Amino acid sequence: MSYEKYNEKVKKISDSIKLNDKLITTNRKGHNYRDLKFKKDQTRIDTGNLTNILTLEEDYIDCESAVTIGKVNRMTIPKKRIIPSLPEGDNFTVGGCLAGLGLGSSSYIHGFFNDNVIDFDIVLGNGDIMKNVSKTNNSDLYYGIGGTYGTMGIITRVKSKLIHCEKHVKIDYLNYNSFESFYREFKKRINDKSDDFIEAFANKKENYTIVAANFVKNVKSEEISIIKDKDILKQRHLSIYAQIAKKKSHTYLRSLDYLERYSYAAFWGHYLYTPYKIRDYIYAGLMYSLMPKKILDSSPGHGKYNISKYFHAANHIVGDYTRDEYVLATDLGVPLSKLKEAMELADNMTETYPRWICPIIDNYNSKKIFCTRKPEMCQDEIILDLGIYGIKNTSTESKLINQAFEKFSFDNGIFKGFFSTCYFTYEEFWKQFDQKKYENIREKYHAKGNFMDIYEKINYRNKKKKNNLRSQLFTFFGKRYLKQINSNQEKLVR
Ligand SMILES: Cc1cc2nc3c(=O)[nH]c(=O)nc-3n(C[C@H](O)[C@H](O)[C@H](O)COP(=O)(O)OP(=O)(O)OC[C@H]3O[C@@H](n4cnc5c(N)ncnc54)[C@H](O)[C@@H]3O)c2cc1C
Repeated sequence: MSYEKYNEKVKKISDSIKLNDKLITTNRKGHNYRDLKFKKDQTRIDTGNLTNILTLEEDYIDCESAVTIGKVNRMTIPKKRIIPSLPEGDNFTVGGCLAGLGLGSSSYIHGFFNDNVIDFDIVLGNGDIMKNVSKTNNSDLYYGIGGTYGTMGIITRVKSKLIHCEKHVKIDYLNYNSFESFYREFKKRINDKSDDFIEAFANKKENYTIVAANFVKNVKSEEISIIKDKDILKQRHLSIYAQIAKKKSHTYLRSLDYLERYSYAAFWGHYLYTPYKIRDYIYAGLMYSLMPKKILDSSPGHGKYNISKYFHAANHIVGDYTRDEYVLATDLGVPLSKLKEAMELADNMTETYPRWICPIIDNYNSKKIFCTRKPEMCQDEIILDLGIYGIKNTSTESKLINQAFEKFSFDNGIFKGFFSTCYFTYEEFWKQFDQKKYENIREKYHAKGNFMDIYEKINYRNKKKKNNLRSQLFTFFGKRYLKQINSNQEKLVR
């Protein structure tokens, strides 16, 4: 794909922005729990045709902004190259990961996705095209863009670093019956940086599993859980959580499958929340394997229907605000040294298990605005994403639970991912982040008045109470279904 064609597409975006007099947004539905009705009143810029990889070299990949992580991995892994820090979702886009958030199990070594971006292009709110924004060229925008969630401009191109990888990984599952023994080993492994990937799960109180994955050079094909894309009976081996529940000590996967391990199951979504034993076969076997690739393909330009495997799955556990009352899908930012406190707070507020614990090294830079800790309040360089996704199981309002979590993160000088439900007030929000810095760069790069303000955007809620068919069906069937799942959970996670 040529840069010439790319430049034509960018010019088109720029021309339509120049003619525009309303607020601007992308036409992406994306990945978040927000109500997206606000998009109806704004000019929606179509980024759906920015799906080409422009250059692939030994040490970098240059992509149009709607290229998905799945597409990148399929291009780079056969060449034994990989973006250092990848999010856990194959149809997240490189533009979305830069503008929003991108982290995964290698982030404890390589930081966030945006820490590995070399440069990017962006069309500003007045239609100007800014090329090659980097650490040395408009560095305020380079460092400031992370976590602005589409409120700075339309990103059109992202160039990222690549590092060496192997085509297979060995995944070890290490189980612990007390927080102390788990934490000791987790902390040691993080400090040693001895694993290529590391994450952990709190399965239930005092029951933890560390999942460490490492590249392997030589592995016998019979040892690899899945060897071809449409292996009907084996797709379920992708679910990390199924392996934990089955008390596996280790498994081998293709690196590509490891990186897409949550795409089929949305963390533990399918495994725990699809009732009964046929769940693995129905979802993994039939849906994932037999459905034409055209439908499931994660690239917007390719998958005509853009039904992501991941979000088909996630839809079972998250959704609109009606579900919010039954289900939690929230992430706490936690300094490594405060994990125990965070777990205790979560236990006080909800009985939701399992929980995902993903370490990230926070490469602080004073020009960053949203995606970094406050070093004066958090000295830990390693921060954790504590993901609480599942049935709430208490009568405490979701809003109160989320507010308690937000307070914990903010009191510890840590941010949260704005894709999950946000309940903080305007004052709390701007006490945490530097409003002046945000507004200055919005002014300087013509975002002000052209793109929605971040607080308004991430807190946007439809004023009308939802009462559509989906909500009614959920209320009718959902409560019973959740009850059933609860009684199932004990049996499944032994
Ligand atoms: C169930 C669930 C699980 C998740 N798990 C993880 C996880 O494991 N790791 C992780 O890192 N993240 C996770 N996320 C968050 C997700 O990665 C981020 O929200 C990411 O930004 C999504 O990328 P996307 O390409 O889908 O972007 P979108 O959701 O489309 O966009 C994210 C934001 O960026 C803006 N944006 C998108 N494209 C552009 C562009 N071209 N120019 C300017 N702005 C743009 C959008 O306006 C939006 O505000 C999860 C989210 C959900 C809902």
